[in-house]
Amino acid sequence: MTKKISAARAQTADKRIEQIRAALGRFDLLCSGTLSERMMTCGKSTCRCHTDPAARHGPYYQWRHMRDNKIAQRYVTPEQAPVLRHAI
Ligand SMILES: [Zn+2]
Repeated sequence: MTKKISAARAQTADKRIEQIRAALGRFDLLCSGTLSERMMTCGKSTCRCHTDPAARHGPYYQWRHMRDNKIAQRYVTPEQAPVLRHAI
């Protein structure tokens, strides 16, 4: 009797897995992590960005995500940012 219940549960689980796969298949791209937009100061000490926050450079887009159990971060281009935001 328990074998019959297990078979029914396995069938339900298989059906659910298939539904999840179908839902995931509707996404073009799927990414984890966070995307932040940052305004930054540059390396020129005489640049206005060091004294005027409104003159900082950017925005720069920083993507932080887990990779090999560590937080990895990289900058992405303004063109990549909306695609990545959608994927996240
Ligand atoms: Zn600057």
